[in-house]
Parts: sequence; C-alpha cells; structure tokens
Amino acid sequence: MSEYKLCVFGSGGVGKSCLTMQFVQGIFMPKYDPTIEDVYKKNVEIDGRQYSLEILDTAGTEDFSAMRDLYVKNSHGFVLVYSITSRATFNDLDEFYNRIVHIKDTEIHGQPPLVLVGNKSDLEGERVVLRQDGQELARRWKCTFLETSAKVQLNVNEIFFDLVRQINRTTNKQFT
Ligand code: GDP
Ligand code: MG
Repeated sequence: MSEYKLCVFGSGGVGKSCLTMQFVQGIFMPKYDPTIEDVYKKNVEIDGRQYSLEILDTAGTEDFSAMRDLYVKNSHGFVLVYSITSRATFNDLDEFYNRIVHIKDTEIHGQPPLVLVGNKSDLEGERVVLRQDGQELARRWKCTFLETSAKVQLNVNEIFFDLVRQINRTTNKQFT
C-alpha cells in the first residue's frame, strides 16, 4: 500500500475544508470551523491499487510558518483552491505556488504534482473568474485544472485521483 501525503492550500472561505470533507466522508458541511487545521486519512483504491492518503486541510494560510514549510517539504502532492466567485482568491494562489516551488526545489526535482481547483462551480450566477482564466494558469504551471463543487459533489474525487496518478508518474520517472 502506497502512503501519500497531500496538502490543500488556498485563501480562507474558498472551500478547502468542504472539499476535503466531501472526499473523506462524503458529506457537505456548510459551516466548518475556519480555524481548524487538521490531517484527514482515507484509504482508497485507484486503478486497482490501494492507497493510504493523508490530507492536510490548511487554515489561516496567510503566513508560511516553519511548520507549514515542513509539511510542504514532506508532501507528495498539492491542491491549490480558489473560488470562481472571487477574483482575489484566484490572485492569491501565486504566493502559495511560489512557496511550494521554492521549497520543493523544482529546478532539481521538476514540477511538483499539482491540481488547480476552481471551486463553487454550482454558483455560476456569481462567477467572476472565467474557466479560461483557470485553464491559462494551469497551462503556465503545467498542472491539471478542475472546476469543482463541494456542495453538489462535482469533480471532488477527481482532484485526489488525478493527484495520485500524477504522483505515480513522477515516482516512476525516478526509478526508470
Ligand atoms: P475554507 O476556509 O477554504 O476551508 O472554506 P470552507 O470549506 O470552510 O467553506 C467556506 C464557505 O463556502 C462555507 O460557507 C461553505 O458552505 C461554502 N462552500 C464551500 N464549498 C462550496 C461549494 O462548492 N459551493 C457553494 N455554493 N458553497 C461552498
Ligand atoms: Mg477550512
């Protein structure tokens, strides 16, 4: 069984906890405590293989503490979340991305496994970030892009499945 550590980043209120809860427990918790930062575990089968996933749902993510840096260093893959209803949360992701790239030393190790997520896609009427904006950013970062809804359970499992497949690809590369 492969054990993978995953980190979920993004500004407050974008739906990090709801996405994590939806994936781990299959429920939508509309009022999850925004100050809780915790690790959630889930065993899943993906493409016929068993995985033990440890997902860090971050909170109060403005400052990168030494402990957070250590999490990044030890993580295999990253989920960067914004809300399609907030331009600011989209712009905020640059800082998270730069920090990850810096800590993971991508010039040596290559691009880290990463999924860019535009959440709250059920709120189409309140959309301010175009799908195309997300696609362009993902092209720049050479990562996967998904629009999701934790509320109506759209593309939530896909985030984590894609991340696991990306990690497998980078791991395989190291041994071939
Ligand atoms: P976090 O601070 O990033 O962990 O955000 P939360 O997961 O706590 O969610 C913040 C707020 O957005 C809560 O009121 C949730 O109910 C709401 N929310 C989260 N995901 C969705 C979604 O996909 N659609 C809608 N409509 N609301 C969402
Ligand atoms: Mg939260």
